[in-house]
Amino acid sequence: MPDFLVIGGGITGLAAAYELFREGQDFILIEENDYFGGKVKTNLRDGFVIEGGPDCFLSEKPQVFQIARELKFEDKIIGTNDEFKGTYILSGGRLHELPEGLMMMVPTKIIPFALSPLISWPGKIRMGMDLFIPRKKDDEDESLYSFVTRRLGREALEKIAEPLIGGIHAGTPEEMSVKASFPRFVEMERKYGSLIRGMLAAKKAFSNRPKTKSNITYFMSFQKGMGELAENIVKNLPDYKLFTGKKAVKVTYQKGKYRTYLTDGEIIESKHVILAVPAYNAAELLEEVNKDLAELLAQTGFASSATITLAYRKEDWPFKVNTFGFVVPRIEKRHLMALTYSSVKWSYRVPDQSFLLVRAFLGGANNQEDVFLPEQDMVNLVLAEIKDILGVKAKPLFYEIFRWPRGMAQYKVGHLERLDKIEKLVFEMPGLALAGSSYRGIGVPDCIKSGREAVRNLLNK
Ligand SMILES: Cc1cc2nc3c(=O)[nH]c(=O)nc-3n(C[C@H](O)[C@H](O)[C@H](O)COP(=O)(O)OP(=O)(O)OC[C@H]3O[C@@H](n4cnc5c(N)ncnc54)[C@H](O)[C@@H]3O)c2cc1C
Repeated sequence: MPDFLVIGGGITGLAAAYELFREGQDFILIEENDYFGGKVKTNLRDGFVIEGGPDCFLSEKPQVFQIARELKFEDKIIGTNDEFKGTYILSGGRLHELPEGLMMMVPTKIIPFALSPLISWPGKIRMGMDLFIPRKKDDEDESLYSFVTRRLGREALEKIAEPLIGGIHAGTPEEMSVKASFPRFVEMERKYGSLIRGMLAAKKAFSNRPKTKSNITYFMSFQKGMGELAENIVKNLPDYKLFTGKKAVKVTYQKGKYRTYLTDGEIIESKHVILAVPAYNAAELLEEVNKDLAELLAQTGFASSATITLAYRKEDWPFKVNTFGFVVPRIEKRHLMALTYSSVKWSYRVPDQSFLLVRAFLGGANNQEDVFLPEQDMVNLVLAEIKDILGVKAKPLFYEIFRWPRGMAQYKVGHLERLDKIEKLVFEMPGLALAGSSYRGIGVPDCIKSGREAVRNLLNK
């Protein structure tokens, strides 16, 4: 009987397993898929690096660097090719470059912002009013919609915040909790009384940071894609402790012992269980352990999305690409959510420079049904959108589709209050921990933090 059972071998479960290993604990990890990494999934194909889920992590969060340093694969980390940094936004059917100095959704440089045709003059003046609008008086949660329209106005919401910021969660601004999804913005308002002032301060702090020799960019990845992160953690753990193809169906608790039932009839007994699975899976598994907890977990919202990577010969693409890609606001009423020129944004993504790798995003809160289209319909839809928006008629050499049903947790207004109740119930259960993207951060660094903290909390309990 292992002391610890980790259920779920995504990046969260792997981080938990690694922490247990470091602490010399007796553990096993089970994963239902035939691979480790969960949404962190990269396919390597004839020199192409094809990301299924995340294609980067945020460099301002230290957890990926930390684990890579501890396991000595830091040298595999790469930055973006920032000479091509521009991102475009589709507006009125045309692509407009995001004005230089626009950070997240906040303008920090006056002249490029003033000259940009993306936002109308009344819209620009409204955004500038952020400098004068008093900070929110109470501490109540509010939606991203309410927060952005209050501080920057409706045009900023529709053209910038919704596709750029809401898009990170594939969510609906009217529902998303700003406190749970973007605590940084709330903190900026609280501390500086203005997002513009807050962003200028963040920019100054970033440029004053101690300079390192390495190329630190806002988004970072690995030479062989994000899969290299999962792969290196797995490589450093004893393989007899990690199992794929094992799905848990039920957990029970009796006399200080958890019993986890698997689909193949096996029962694993352990003193501790770490559920590193999405909240809807955790809800099903914990039904018999604690009904109230299971009900609260089941209330977590999720959005589905799909990524379609298309490989082209550069000579077939009618123009030279020198940007990271574009995002599509929902007011444009299109299916495409965003498109990334992966091989321009990153090095090491194509076998040689005669190829172009493009990644399209479908689904999200507004077009969930697209995620479940038959393969050929999905590809035709993406190619039609690319033709419409970019005028590109070229046929790809090949494509790869990844579907993520209920792949992205939605932190809706009230998420943090529900989380408090969940955490209280979990705390009362000896030996139980929940970790992962359903709770306090969906990004890969947040998941690593959550997995490692789950172990520390159990050891200190
Ligand atoms: C399309 C997409 C793009 C993204 N882009 C980024 C990005 O660029 N940067 C970023 O930081 N984040 C990004 N994210 C978010 C990030 O990838 C995820 O939040 C994170 O990978 C989730 O990790 P996890 O381990 O918590 O969950 P998962 O990856 O979902 O892992 C959970 C694992 O548990 C297993 N499991 C579930 N139930 C059971 C069971 N009963 N028994 C056994 N095993 C079970 C599953 O098979 C899965 O492998 C993106 C997400 C998506 C979907």
